Amino acid sequence: MTKRLKLVEYLIINSHLLTIKLKIMAIKKVWIEEGCTACGLCAAICPEVFKMDDEAVIKKDADLASNEAGIKEAAESCPVEIIKFE
Ligand code: SF4
Repeated sequence: MTKRLKLVEYLIINSHLLTIKLKIMAIKKVWIEEGCTACGLCAAICPEVFKMDDEAVIKKDADLASNEAGIKEAAESCPVEIIKFE
């Protein structure tokens, strides 16, 4: 087997493993615990998932898998740390 073929096999296997890892780590649930100050940061950071009523709420039709980076950034930015996900 040539070195080039081994490299191609290595890359294919690693891309499959990365895909599997990303699927395992995908966010499946987002919720907001009590204590929202209605600052609006989460909705500004990730309007695809969060919106403001009297307090922040999760949009019912939000595509969580496509907005993972925004969800994580919103959770990290929330001043009262009440945005949770799993
Ligand atoms: S960032 Fe936190 S405190 Fe601000 S609106 Fe969103 S959930 Fe509420």
